[in-house]
Amino acid sequence: MRAGIIGSGLGGLLAAVSLARRGSEVVIFEKLPYAGGRFTNIERSGYQLSTGALHMIPHGEKGPLARMLRTLGISVQIKTSKPEGLFRINGKDYLFDELPELFSMKEKLKLTAALASLKLDRGGKESLREWLEKRINSKLLLQIADSFCGWALSVDSSKVSSGETAAITKNVNKFGGPGVPLGGCGGVTKALVSELERLGGKILYGMEVEKIEIENGRAANIATKEDSYDFDMIISNAGPKATIKLCGEENFPASYVREIKNIEEAAGIKILATCEKAMLGHSGVLFTPQAQRIDGLNEVTNADPSLAPKGRHLLMSHQALDASQNAAKEVKLGIEDLHAIFPDFDRHCKVLAVHVYKSGWPVNRAVSGVRISPESPIKNLYHVGDAVKPKGWMESEGVAAGVELLLGHLQKRKRILLH
Ligand SMILES: Cc1cc2nc3c(=O)[nH]c(=O)nc-3n(C[C@H](O)[C@H](O)[C@H](O)COP(=O)(O)OP(=O)(O)OC[C@H]3O[C@@H](n4cnc5c(N)ncnc54)[C@H](O)[C@@H]3O)c2cc1C
Repeated sequence: MRAGIIGSGLGGLLAAVSLARRGSEVVIFEKLPYAGGRFTNIERSGYQLSTGALHMIPHGEKGPLARMLRTLGISVQIKTSKPEGLFRINGKDYLFDELPELFSMKEKLKLTAALASLKLDRGGKESLREWLEKRINSKLLLQIADSFCGWALSVDSSKVSSGETAAITKNVNKFGGPGVPLGGCGGVTKALVSELERLGGKILYGMEVEKIEIENGRAANIATKEDSYDFDMIISNAGPKATIKLCGEENFPASYVREIKNIEEAAGIKILATCEKAMLGHSGVLFTPQAQRIDGLNEVTNADPSLAPKGRHLLMSHQALDASQNAAKEVKLGIEDLHAIFPDFDRHCKVLAVHVYKSGWPVNRAVSGVRISPESPIKNLYHVGDAVKPKGWMESEGVAAGVELLLGHLQKRKRILLH
């Protein structure tokens, strides 16, 4: 079985190693000169800046990504974040379980009932914001919900359904909070690339796929500027919108094209700062519900000091960005937030870089809650990546769970051997 994979993002690499281990001949076409897409590091003056992800895996060593890496025999140490998260409210940091202290007795009772209902997976299609507003009238609660959704999903609570939030809550309760892979995102990517190469798989760097050629209703060839290569199976990690363009809309049912065109992506802004001392002092997330734009921050050097030069810290903030917002203005508000959260920011820290993630390089190619199958309407053509996240799985966990789903489909159709 010859498998051609378009893109060496996390989804492409996980699929590639999984197939290579099952005996497939795997070739990845990657348009960039490096592997990993939005899940790797770019070194700058001794800092391991990430191309996307904030060097965190949402469920640490217990989630689908860690499980898949173990199954693939890939050794990446993931350090559990401690505490998992704190919420800074009125200048004080609270653990999630301590948040009820901030509410009146009446609000507390309503909150307990609402959380119990979410735990039982009772949410529905209405947005989390609408769902909360119906139950508790509290500005602070909405700010807390927005900062969690903004950090974890890069949208506010009006853009994610209460049903999806319920499934996410269930997974957080079952699999726990985040962890930092040693070496950051690049540690995961490097280990996947080296295992793929050990198994005989290839990555062709600087090779942009220009077309997926469809013959008799099946995906047959991957075409670059120079050549065309035939495969038994084509897996696209370029995202469903780009994949439709590569094949030509005319090859898909109109309803599928409409569905894919309507997918909303999640955009965001990351501000990276170098600090001479630890500003957070822990390896978890600091949620900032009362900031004007920043949803949260982390300081991964408390888990892995090698991500910055000796004695320095890497502080990263994240804020969701709505497509209608002016990115430059939002960055300015984010930097103002950093100064408000840390009044001594200028004394100890310096902004290293500001990254805006949208359009072709977003935070998530599909907002959490969108369901796209890894199977496409075209025979032999499949999707992986963060537009293919099964219910309740955030970000890189969703990417891994999506690849697991694809492998299940392929096994069922006897396209690959049982593992
Ligand atoms: C600011 C930010 C913060 C985030 N924080 C976290 C976090 O802390 N934890 C977490 O788990 N996730 C986080 N994420 C999300 C995570 O980074 C993504 O979900 C994940 O990396 C997406 O992987 P993917 O498989 O979709 O591939 P992508 O990263 O989209 O990679 C696709 C690859 O395909 C290549 N490609 C595309 N088109 C072609 C073509 N025509 N020919 C050849 N190659 C092509 C691209 O160059 C790219 O390398 C964050 C993302 C961002 C942007």
